[in-house]
Amino acid sequence: MSTKTKQKVHNYSAGPCILPSTVFEKASAAVLDLDGSGLSILEISHRSKPFVAIMEKARALVKELLDVPEGYSILFLGGGASTGFFLVPMNYMKVGGKAAYTDTGTWASNAIKEAQGFGEVDVVASSADKDHTYIPKGHPIPSGVDYFHFTSNNTIYGTQYKDLPTSSDGTPVICDMSSDIFSRPVNVADFAMIYAGAQKNMGPAGTTLYIVKDELLGRTGRSLGNMMDLRNHIKKESMFNTPPVYPVYVSMLTLEWMKEQGGVKAMQERSEARAGLLYGAIDELPLFEGTTAREDRSSMNATFRLTNTALEETFDAAWKEAGISGLRGHRSVGGYRASMYNALPLESVQVLVDVMHEFAKKNG
Ligand SMILES: *Cc1c(COP(=O)(O)O)cnc(C)c1O
Repeated sequence: MSTKTKQKVHNYSAGPCILPSTVFEKASAAVLDLDGSGLSILEISHRSKPFVAIMEKARALVKELLDVPEGYSILFLGGGASTGFFLVPMNYMKVGGKAAYTDTGTWASNAIKEAQGFGEVDVVASSADKDHTYIPKGHPIPSGVDYFHFTSNNTIYGTQYKDLPTSSDGTPVICDMSSDIFSRPVNVADFAMIYAGAQKNMGPAGTTLYIVKDELLGRTGRSLGNMMDLRNHIKKESMFNTPPVYPVYVSMLTLEWMKEQGGVKAMQERSEARAGLLYGAIDELPLFEGTTAREDRSSMNATFRLTNTALEETFDAAWKEAGISGLRGHRSVGGYRASMYNALPLESVQVLVDVMHEFAKKNG
C-alpha cells in the first residue's frame, strides 16, 4: 500500500490545508474500522454511543484548549464560516436593529454584506483605502449596537489583529476566527460568539465551530427557521439534525493532537517560530518584500512578493522543485502566500527559507 508520506510535500495550502500526519492515519483507519467496532465511522448512526462520545469529546477538547467558561455552548454545525456570516445577524441583530463591523478584507466584507440583509450595518473602520494591508486601530466599539463583529485573521491579505478588540461597556463582540483559532490563547469571556470554519486550523472542510454565550440568544424579535436558530442546536447538542459526522471526527482527532502537543500555548510558540523564520528571510533578502504593515503581519498567512516580478517563473520553479505546494497568493491579490497553520512543521518553513536564500544568491 502506498503511503501519503512517500515524497515529502511541504504543504502551504490556505485551506483546506495541512493536518497532522497522525490524524490522517487515525482518520483513514476509522473509515475501515472505528476503534475495533467492525464498523466504519462513515456508516454508524450519529445517535450511536460511539459517535455521541466523539461529539462530546470534541466539545470537551475545545472547552479545555480555549478554557471556555461556564455559560457558553460549543457547537459543531454543518456549512462553512460563510454560513456563520448570516447566522450571526439572524441570531443577534434585533428587528430594526444595528450592528457594527470592521472591514479588513474579503471575508469581513462578505460578513458585512450578509448582515446588511437583516438590518443596519455601521462599518466603524476599514482598511480598504490601502488594499487591506493593515489592521485599523483606535476606533471605538460603538455602544447602542446589537453587536460588534471583526475578523481576527485575514487569510487572503495576511493581516492579523495582535490585540483583539474588547468592549468596555458590554457591547457583544463577535469574531470570525476561522484562520487563527487555536493558534494562541484567547479570553473567550470577552466574546458573545466566536466562530470558525474547521478547514484552516482545526480539521477538514465541512463543519464550523461556534462558541456561543447562551444568555444573549433569543433577543432579536425575529422568528427563525428551526435550522437557523442556534438555540435549537444548543438544546440538541449539535444533533438537531445529522451533523457532519466525519469532519467532526477528524476535528476531534486534530484537537486531541493539539492537546498532546501542549495546547494553544505550544501552538503559539511554534507559530511564532515559523513566522519569525519566514518573515526574517523576507526582510533580509532584497528580492522579497512583505505586502502588509509589519505590526499587523499574520503569523498564519505570510503574504509577500518579489521585488522583480520578472523572476516569478524562476522562483516558482525553485520552490516546486523543493517539494513545496500551495505557495501562490489568493487569485484576487496575486504574489505569494505561505499559510503556516498549526500542523505545518518548522522544517517545512526551513525548506522554503533555504529556497529563498538560494534563489537570492543566484538572482540577486
Ligand atoms: C476561509 C474563511 C472563510 C470562509 O469559510 P467557508 O468555510 O469557505 O465558508 C471565512 N472567514 C475566514 C477568516 C476564512 O479564512
